[in-house]
This record gives sequence, C-alpha cells and structure tokens, in this order.
Amino acid sequence: MTDRLGRVVVVGASVAGVTVVETLRRRGFDGSISLVGDEPHAPYDRPPLSKQILTGAWAADRVTFRDAASLDRLRVDLWLGTRAVGLDLGERTVEFHDRERLSFDGLVIATGVVPRRLPAGHDLAGVHVLRTVGDALALRTQLHPGRRLVVIGAGFLGCEVAAAARKLGMQVCIVDPLPVPMVRQLGEDVGRHVASLHRDHGVDIHCGVAVRRLLGDCKVTGVELATGAVLDADLVLVAIGSTPATDWLTGSGLTLNDGVVCDATCRAAPGVYAAGDVARWWHDTLGAHIRVEHRMNATEQAIAAATNLLGADAPFTPVPYFWTDQYDARIQAYGTFPPNCSVAIVRGDPDERRFIAHYIHDDRITGVLAWNMPKGLRAERAHIGQSVADARL
Ligand SMILES: Cc1cc2nc3c(=O)[nH]c(=O)nc-3n(C[C@H](O)[C@H](O)[C@H](O)COP(=O)(O)OP(=O)(O)OC[C@H]3O[C@@H](n4cnc5c(N)ncnc54)[C@H](O)[C@@H]3O)c2cc1C
Repeated sequence: MTDRLGRVVVVGASVAGVTVVETLRRRGFDGSISLVGDEPHAPYDRPPLSKQILTGAWAADRVTFRDAASLDRLRVDLWLGTRAVGLDLGERTVEFHDRERLSFDGLVIATGVVPRRLPAGHDLAGVHVLRTVGDALALRTQLHPGRRLVVIGAGFLGCEVAAAARKLGMQVCIVDPLPVPMVRQLGEDVGRHVASLHRDHGVDIHCGVAVRRLLGDCKVTGVELATGAVLDADLVLVAIGSTPATDWLTGSGLTLNDGVVCDATCRAAPGVYAAGDVARWWHDTLGAHIRVEHRMNATEQAIAAATNLLGADAPFTPVPYFWTDQYDARIQAYGTFPPNCSVAIVRGDPDERRFIAHYIHDDRITGVLAWNMPKGLRAERAHIGQSVADARL
C-alpha cells in the first residue's frame, strides 16, 4: 500500500489526527500529508479543560501539545481554521467550506464529537457547553464564589466541572435523570460513591429527575425539573453527552451509525480509516462494534489506523482505559462496564476512598477500577477476561 500512497489527508487536527501524522512519519511514510482542522488553534489537549483550566491552575496555552516547530518537523501541510464539508469517495477528494478541494490516496477521519444541546433554551445567556478551549475560557470567566451553577448531566464531564466550581466557591447543583452520577461509565455501586464524594464537598445532587425546561428571558435564571421544583441558576452547564462529528460525511457512501462504522482494522472504505471519538469499529475480542470517547483510545486508535493505512491490516483490540479527576479523587478504569455487571471490591475500602473493584459479568472480569490506587491498577488489569476463580489464584 505504501508505494501507492502518495498523498494522505487527515481531517481533525486534535489528538487522534496529530498522532496519525506522527505515526505515518515514524513508520517511514515519505509522501505528502495534509492535516485539516476547523479550530484556529495549534492542536491542544481537552482533559485539562474541565480541570486545571477551569480552576485557573494552568494558563490556557499550556494545553497546546504540539507547537509550530514540532509540526514543521513532521513536514505536514497544516490547514487550520478549515472545515471539511464533503467527501467524494469516487473522486477521492475532501471538500472545504470555501469550496476548495484536496485530493487523497489515503484518508483518516478524526473529527471527534460535538456536545449535545438541549432542545430548547440553549441560546439563553449563561448556558454553556464544554468541548473546546474557547468553551473553557468562556465558562471560566463566569465562575465566581457564591454564584449558582446548575450542571445538567452527571457524566464524567459534568462531575468534573461541578468539582472545579466547588473549588472556586460556587454553589453547585447537579441534575440527571439517571439514579446516580456516572452510572453509565461506572455502574450504580461506584456511582453511589461518586454521589457521596460530591455531597461531602457541598454539591446538591438531584439524580433520578429530568429537566423540564430552562427559565429566563434573555439570560438563564433557573432550571425547572420534571417534579416542578426550580433550581435557581446564574449559570448552567449542559453536559448531556456528545454526537460524532459526521455531518460532513452525509451522502459520502460511508456507513454512519453513531460514528463512522469501521471494520476491525479501523477501515471505513478502501484507503479510508477513522480514529478517536468519531470511530465506531468492530472490536474482535469483545465481538461488538464500539465507540470510545477517551483520550488514551484516541492515541492508540490513531496509531493503529495509521499503521493499517500503511498496509499492516491488523485488528485493533485495545483494553479501553479512562481516568477522571474530581476533588482529591483520581478514578481510573480499564475494560468494559456493562450495565448488568456485579461489582466486587478486591482491595482497599470505599469508605476510605481508596479501593480497587472488579466488574463481573457471566463470572468473567470485564473491567477493573481504581479509586486513588494507581499502582495497584496495573497488576489488576491482567485479570480482565479471566474467570473470577482464576483471578483469585
Ligand atoms: C473537557 C473534557 C475533558 C476530558 N477529560 C478526559 C479525561 O479526564 N480522561 C479521558 O480519558 N478523556 C477525557 N476527555 C476525552 C478526550 O479529550 C477525547 O477522547 C479526545 O479529545 C478525543 O480526541 P479526537 O482527536 O478523537 O477528537 P477531538 O479532540 O474532538 O478532535 C476532533 C477535532 O476535529 C475537528 N473537526 C470536527 N469536524 C471537523 C470538520 N468537518 N472539518 C475539520 N475539522 C473538524 C474538531 O473541531 C476537533 O478539533 C475529555 C474531553 C473533554 C471535552
């Protein structure tokens, strides 16, 4: 494949996109590479946006992970501030918002996700989402002691923002229709510990109740719940999940179904691959199509996609990993956490907020989670896929 690959185009200039470029060069690809991204900034990292950037611990420029000099060394043709609006698979071209086109022999799609919006009320002043550095800076200027923040959505993003806002002395409520925070990621048992962590830090948690509407004329003043109760608000963060950024691929002939659907090698069509938050690929070991919205996966999948574009043709079968930081808690998890898992604490004690848990489904360990026990986690990771009895040996 390498000899037929004169020109590669990578769309999405963030962690997955940049890692594709670095991998191609590291593996000896000498052709031309264009990296296209619609944001105007040099590529930057998102995890600190809801942590160090919001609390003010870091200046905004610290999130940049590749400066102009490193990108120069990669001999990459950078198209920042450029939005891809179409893909013609027959002509093998990507079209941009200004109607310019780039032709390619190989294409990697790394356009990530965009935050979901509320069906109504989202345009009121004081209503925020958090995905970009611009979003983080806009929110940060509004976080002042004593102001009231309502976070809609108790996933990892909503919980991290709640923690940062409490650190800054704000009054914080979290609302979510599900029974406990982070239930989709961590299940009910550990979700209850997340709820108690937040309550101990003074967050008012309203789980198991939906939002009816936002209140206010031009500026948000409150959030009305399905119960009729009203939470007063100066600010609202909407953190209700994301959708893959695939609008520009509509009608291209690629299969789109909550992401760019790929085979086990991250291939969406001949010479076309996807990586990172936008990719839904067939995971051979899990026997399912999955899509993962976590930082480590974006890097690992980008390496796999680039290597396969060069002809390796190897299935991508990672053990998914993510972490989240809230107050003094670092929660890290490897594997998968199906909703009907049971949870066994194998080390430490949840009451001391230092423990390791196994997630068990059909007598097999599908995931391991560490709460403030980073060292123990590496050893426990080896148990994923084992039966409970084998793990005890
Ligand atoms: C606030 C925040 C905190 C996070 N914290 C954690 C954490 O603690 N732990 C963890 O594991 N993960 C965390 N994540 C998730 C992690 O950041 C993502 O998994 C990672 O950024 C995915 O990288 P990506 O390159 O696939 O997509 P993205 O980082 O979303 O990049 C996609 C890029 O493509 C651009 N783009 C989209 N459409 C187009 C188009 N049509 N044309 C051109 N460019 C386009 C986008 O603007 C964007 O720059 C966090 C995410 C956020 C937002």
